[in-house]
Amino acid sequence: MVSFRDLVSGFRELRLEPERPVMVHTSLRAFGQLRGGVDTLLGALLTVFPRIMAPTHTYNSMLIPGDGPSHNGMVYGSGHSLNAMAEIYHPDMPADRLMGALPEALRKHPLAKRSKHPILSFAGIDVDDILATQTMFDPLAPIHELHEEEGYVLLLGVGHTVNTSLHFAEKIANRRTFVRWALTPEGAVECPGFPCCSLGFSEAAPYLADITRWVRIGPALVQALPLREMVDIVASLINGDPLALLCPDPACERCAAVREELDFSGD
Ligand SMILES: [Zn+2]
Repeated sequence: MVSFRDLVSGFRELRLEPERPVMVHTSLRAFGQLRGGVDTLLGALLTVFPRIMAPTHTYNSMLIPGDGPSHNGMVYGSGHSLNAMAEIYHPDMPADRLMGALPEALRKHPLAKRSKHPILSFAGIDVDDILATQTMFDPLAPIHELHEEEGYVLLLGVGHTVNTSLHFAEKIANRRTFVRWALTPEGAVECPGFPCCSLGFSEAAPYLADITRWVRIGPALVQALPLREMVDIVASLINGDPLALLCPDPACERCAAVREELDFSGD
């Protein structure tokens, strides 16, 4: 069984500078039996990394409209059942279950703040300056700021398919973004700058091996990557091959939209 002490000593082995902010992605299940569950994990993280943040995205607020801009990686008018289940975004909306248990525990921590985007919010402790950069037009601004502050990405028992910060590398490499819509108290609100799909991001791992620090805690592989180097490597990967890191699923609408645009601009 993994204990608080195991976690703290494992995290310390990564030797990250404690003043640097850290973006965390987690699978609690990867730790097997964890004494005290998510609260133990959050406590151990805060002991070693006092400035942490995580995505607290709220996909429940999303709507699919009947019409919209072309090449937008979605089938307009296909959202009848999804739209009927959409919930009005509010600042206390729980983080989507897809994010795992840690972001929600972090969001509920008395010292935590949350950014205000109705789909792509982040929550964190002692990262107020980073969270404050997010706008409706620049949902990835907190990752840009994390990059400026030479932060780290921490992958706890998960791979790069959940590494949100790689979307910032896509942005640097001018990969197209999408418009999405959120249901808010003011009605449906347009949310530009929505990133492409991350299901192909695992292909980045071999390129990032040299800058990845890792440690095993119980059964879980814990990886730490310096954001600045990571973004440089992945942005040049996409610059060199505009199809890099797109997912192989032929039904993926966003990856298909990126491929279509490249076919078009290549003529
Ligand atoms: Zn895809």
